This record gives sequence, structure tokens and C-alpha cells, in this order.
Amino acid sequence: MRQDDQELSEHAFGLCQQLIRIDTTNPPGNERPAAELLAAELSSAGLDPVVMQSAPGRGNVVARLRGSGELPPLLLTAHLDVVEAEPASWEHPPFCGDVHDGCLWGRGAIDMKNMAAMSVAILARLAREGVKPKRDLIFAGVADEEAGCRHGSLWLCENHRDLVQSEFAIGEGGGFNVQVAGKSFFTVQVAEKGVCWVRARATGEPGHGSMPRDDSAVVRLSEAIARLGSQGLPRHASASVEAFIGAIASHLPAPLRPVIKMLANPTLGPAMLNVLPDPGVRRAFRALLGNTASPTVLRAGNKTNVIPGVAEAEIDGRILPGQSREDFLRELSDVLGRDIDLEVMHSLPPVVTEPKESSLYSLIHEVMGERAPDAPMVPFVLQGFTDAKAFTSIGAKWYGFAPVKLPPELRFADMFHGHNERIPVDGLAWGTQTLMEVVRRCIEG
Ligand SMILES: [Zn+2]
Repeated sequence: MRQDDQELSEHAFGLCQQLIRIDTTNPPGNERPAAELLAAELSSAGLDPVVMQSAPGRGNVVARLRGSGELPPLLLTAHLDVVEAEPASWEHPPFCGDVHDGCLWGRGAIDMKNMAAMSVAILARLAREGVKPKRDLIFAGVADEEAGCRHGSLWLCENHRDLVQSEFAIGEGGGFNVQVAGKSFFTVQVAEKGVCWVRARATGEPGHGSMPRDDSAVVRLSEAIARLGSQGLPRHASASVEAFIGAIASHLPAPLRPVIKMLANPTLGPAMLNVLPDPGVRRAFRALLGNTASPTVLRAGNKTNVIPGVAEAEIDGRILPGQSREDFLRELSDVLGRDIDLEVMHSLPPVVTEPKESSLYSLIHEVMGERAPDAPMVPFVLQGFTDAKAFTSIGAKWYGFAPVKLPPELRFADMFHGHNERIPVDGLAWGTQTLMEVVRRCIEG
């Protein structure tokens, strides 16, 4: 590695370590110190960052490296909050930010303080070099992604749109390597499912527990939820999922190809899932075959001898690209039954960025061909949601690409929101160099 490349990687490592040591567990988030740390770093490189609070303690930071304006801006973005960690289940304390076995440990190491650190190191480097690119390069470090983006990207796009408007946005959702059928692939997220969180409610006559009722709200809701568990929602084909699975299949040995391709087929796919030996990978693929609905919260009654008049369940619904919120609600109601009322608590539509139409996608493809020649890049569809929801709503084309190279024993899916989150120090350095290469080529046009 060249001397200045090494300095860049070391800068990103140091920032990632400092960020991990700031506890931004959401709720309550408290991202302000993390936003201020990054702002100080950007200021010292000669940039003019702004820290904005969307609510007390909820810090968002935005900085811009000015270009000639010949091309529209590129945005690098990362959320600064993390999900909670149960220290008792970790081998090293979740906010230690120490290095053990070649890895930097801590909550946020891969989701996604690494991306915040890499982005800020890159902006600082380019500012110090005094480059004058064809595009502005923007960084947005945002609050509150883990709880639905309200105090972060959604707030920023609603209230400070001019600061973050861009042609392309690079954020989370891909950039890591995965193993499918024994082969390594790098993901670039080009689509993600929508969200529809729903409260399902059964009502009935209340009564004394000593005399059971046929129309008990608790029993009717339980039956409906059990049906949802055993039946699930209908399967659908999706062009994004077909492209993702088709790309994987095309790089596998001939006998496996048609089998893997069939995984995208809504009728045959479910039965074919057994070709994937890993139960985690099976679940991930199954979730791409339709809208999904996971019951997560149940609520009814508070006295053993009183039959309550209301029973409620909260359901985490996810909408397949190509499907709408109305499609999802109709399917959910078909399974739960018309006597269960549905109330939407929060919903955001699916996001699709058409990869083939974009110069940035081709550029990432080109860079990855050089930096990871043995692991083909595939257009990934994410089951979850990201800040893409906000930034695409104001016109950005989103690519989930927070590059990190993981050894086979470390799986992104296990560490993402899991115990013992960590990032290999050399995998972070590889990611920093890779992202820098993509950014340079993109802003130089
Ligand atoms: Zn994340």
C-alpha cells in the first residue's frame, strides 16, 4: 500500500474507533457527540460542516466539498445511531472499540460507523489535496435510521433538501461479500423492500373469565395470527429479485445454474430453497419471494379473570419491489380475516434503482472488477430498509455500497444487529481504498 493510501486507511480506522466509543444506541440515539466529532474532523481539513439538531440530542452533520458544478452532486451517507447491544452476550464490551484478533470490535463496526468514518476520511483527504472535481461531494451523517429515520434522513430531506440533493447517493445496504453455493459475491444494493407496520385489532364483548365467550377478542386474534404464521402471504415474482438471483446463478457451475435461478420463481422457489444448506441464507431468500408479515408484539387484557374487549398485535410488514402498500394490506386482511381491523402505524414504499441505466453502477462494477476479481458483483435486493427511502424521495439514485471485505468465518448477516459486531482492520482498509477509488472516478467524471 502506498504511504498516502495507508494514511487514509489509518484515518478511517481511527475515526471508526472513536465513533464506536460514543454510545449512540437508539433509542434514545443521542447522536450529537458523534456528529460533532465528524464535524471537527471535516473543519480541520478546511471544510465547512454544519451540525443540525432535529430534536434535543439528535445530531445530523452535513459537509460539502465544492466542485465545478459541471455534474450534479454525489452524496456519501451513513447513519450515526446503532441498535442496542446486550453486553452479557458479547466477548468484548460493545462500546470498547478495541482491536482483538485483527478486528475492531464494537456496536456499529459494520452498521455503519465504518461508512461514516470512511466517508469523512475521504472528504478530508480530497479537501487537503485541493481537488476541484466536476461534481460536489457531499457527506451526510444522520440520526435515527434504526428507529425509522424520522429524526435523521427524513427530517433532513424535508427541512434542508438543498444541502443534500444529489444525483447519486451511496449508503448502506451492500458492499459486503456473501457466500452462495460455495462462491463469493459482492453485493451492491439496488433495491429494497418497503415497510408497512400495522396494528391488528380484534374486538369483542368483555366478560367474566369464569364463563368463556365464543367471540373472545383474544381467541379470534390468536387464531388469525396463527393462520398468518402457518400460511404466510402469497408469493410474487419481482424483476429486481430475478435480476439479483439471475446474476448469482450466472456465475455458478452449469448444473447449479437452473436450480438457483428457480429460487426467484414464486411457484417453484419455496420448494427449491432446500438446495441452500445454510438456514440463514434460506430465510433471506424466502423473504424475497413476496410481501412478508411478522407478528412481533401482542397485547390484551391485564387481569386473569377478565375477558378483555380488545386484543391487539403489531405486525412488521415488508413490501416487495413492484408491490404497493394497498396490495400488502389486502393480502394481510385476506389471511387475518375481515373482522380484524388494520391500522397502519408507519409505512414507506419499496425503493428500486435501475442499475443498468446508471453510470455510477457501471463505475462501481469496474472498480470492483479490479479490487475483487474473484468475487463477482451482484445487484442486491435488501429485505430491510435504509435511508434510501428519504434520499430517493428527493431524486437521488441510491446504491447500497459500504465496502468491506470479510473473511469466510465472519458473516455480515450474523454481525448485523447481532452480538460481537466487529470489522477486520484489513477489511476496513480495503473498503476505504475501494470507496475512495469509486468516489474519485465518479466526481472526476
Ligand atoms: Zn444500518
